[in-house]
Amino acid sequence: MTVDRPIGNASSKREAEKIRRLVERALDNVGDPEMPAVSLSELGMVHEIRIVEADRSFRVEIDLLPTFVGCPALELMRREVERTVRPIPGVVQVEVRFVSHPRWTTDRIRPSARPKLEAYGIAPPPCLTVRSPAPAPDEAPPPNGAPAPAEATVAVGASVEWNPRCPYCGSEDTILENPFGPTSCRSIFYCRSCLNPFEAMKPLGVPVVLQRRP
Ligand SMILES: [Zn+2]
Repeated sequence: MTVDRPIGNASSKREAEKIRRLVERALDNVGDPEMPAVSLSELGMVHEIRIVEADRSFRVEIDLLPTFVGCPALELMRREVERTVRPIPGVVQVEVRFVSHPRWTTDRIRPSARPKLEAYGIAPPPCLTVRSPAPAPDEAPPPNGAPAPAEATVAVGASVEWNPRCPYCGSEDTILENPFGPTSCRSIFYCRSCLNPFEAMKPLGVPVVLQRRP
């Protein structure tokens, strides 16, 4: 029988902290199955890591935020995380859960991931500066000091003109070809400078509509 208990004595606390650091480092090396150049950590998908003492070993629970609900790569990701974390000494079990709260948004992507996405031929999502609309009449303002949710600062359905930099030639003379790319998190753009189509990560978590530049 496996007995879980809070991590009690000083030596098991130290051991748990060591395991946490090794798990973090391991996750830095697990690439997104669709964009192996970028790790799950860099994409901001790692929400929480819990180290739970189980008998004289540890169980690792990892909560990941899917970049898009129904992303078909989730099973691959789960297996890859388990395969990477399981060999860490002291770990007897790895549990990977996909959680939907908080919701993953593109602003969780670390700055270090942006050049890697570009090098992979995918334009990173825009850093949106969105105007604050007047709150809807039936919408209570957020309590003082509480961060407003992202969607509260964007007019729902607002049109955003976005011309991502072409990952091939760096030109910003780009146009949206098709909002629906090969995966649900990407759109297809066309570079008018080097005449190549390319993919760009959509801004997610902000209910905006990408606009075609004339
Ligand atoms: Zn180009």
